[in-house]
Amino acid sequence: MQIPGHIDPVTTGTVPLRGGNRIDLVGLSRDAIGGVLVEAGLDAKAAKLRAKQIWHWMYHRGVTDFEAMTDIAKAMRPWLTDRFIIGRPTVREAQVSSDGTRKWLLAAADGQEYEMVFIPDADRGTLCVSSQVGCTLNCRFCHTGTMRLVRNLGAGEIVGQVMLARDELGEWPKGTMAGFGPDSDDEDYEEGGHYTADGRILTNIVMMGMGEPLYNFDEVKGALKIVMDGDGLALSRRRITLSTSGVVPMMARAGEEIGVNLAVSLHAVSKEIRDEIVPLNRKYGIDELLKACADYPGAGNSRRITFEYVMLKDKNDSDDDARELVRLIREYGLHAKVNLIPFNPWPGAIYECSSPERVKAFSNLIFKAGISAPIRTPRGRDIMAACGQLKSAATKPTRAELDRIAEEKQAALG
Ligand code: SAH
Ligand code: SF4
Repeated sequence: MQIPGHIDPVTTGTVPLRGGNRIDLVGLSRDAIGGVLVEAGLDAKAAKLRAKQIWHWMYHRGVTDFEAMTDIAKAMRPWLTDRFIIGRPTVREAQVSSDGTRKWLLAAADGQEYEMVFIPDADRGTLCVSSQVGCTLNCRFCHTGTMRLVRNLGAGEIVGQVMLARDELGEWPKGTMAGFGPDSDDEDYEEGGHYTADGRILTNIVMMGMGEPLYNFDEVKGALKIVMDGDGLALSRRRITLSTSGVVPMMARAGEEIGVNLAVSLHAVSKEIRDEIVPLNRKYGIDELLKACADYPGAGNSRRITFEYVMLKDKNDSDDDARELVRLIREYGLHAKVNLIPFNPWPGAIYECSSPERVKAFSNLIFKAGISAPIRTPRGRDIMAACGQLKSAATKPTRAELDRIAEEKQAALG
């Protein structure tokens, strides 16, 4: 089904409001918050000031209750509470892996479910964020690909994952903000100087959860702009990576308008194999995809593109495949690194993971050519939280149903 304004088949739905008639402010830009305050009756100047204050409390301090916004006059707080909420996704289930990886099954206001994963490491903490409920695409090795796309997540639901993760990790900054006295209605407050990026638990974000982020461009962009805003979550764009299966027409815009690191799910070096395992390849082939990588704004030594490559036994893991990968990276003059992902199994998957020796040999061949090709350690496999294992539907479809869903998706791709 073609939706006007979208470049490819994408279905989307409206998101019912959490909190009844009240508007959820999470996910709105600062100007949009000002706009809803004007609609609610404030004059433009007051709305601008309040929007700035509310923004700071929401995104810098993680406050969800207007009563806690001490620089907003006491009398005004119930007025805000009557009209607005600062929502969070509902946690349906929270699991912790033996390796410390955490996975949350979340529910939106309309009951739709999606997952997010937190991966702690010695030097960083990475949150893997979903962009859609399900996925329109059907990469054959991916569990999410066996779900139908239910709908796009809204910007608020995307940024809401980051906010909830900070709640759960207990890492909103405490203490007072510089210039914010209790009940001060002072417009010229200073930005809070008590909080820096140092010592953070959640340091990195990867758009690698459920869904194809470039099929939900506007909402992903809106959410990441909020995540990067200096007077809020303030995560640097260098610490954010967006992964795409290769939606070529949206890649340049992603670089120009969002400007985060790009990861590309390449997974194969020949048309035959990529057509089979990443069916989007039938629409945007390897040649087009690598050209778009070469043209990715800002691509260069300082900002290398990451190619993700899932290791599938006897499918894409030969020495010749590794050599061809090196040749392609050179041919297109790409400053790239390759992330080798051992295939993570899921019920009903038709592939097996390459042997550790094969993965190592593949990696060595690429390293020898001067291209970095680390092997990603699978994380959270025991709770189905590893790459490609996410899926929110509780039911287990049969093989025939899986094939039918794959056929439907292929037909929709055209
Ligand atoms: N839809 C986007 C982002 C989400 S997937 C994309 O496809 O790029 C994050 C990464 O995990 C992608 O590279 C994806 O191809 C890979 N992946 C999917 N299923 C996997 C599996 N079963 N084992 C290992 N990696 C998998
Ligand atoms: Fe969708 Fe990415 Fe999974 Fe492919 S790998 S089906 S694009 S989520």
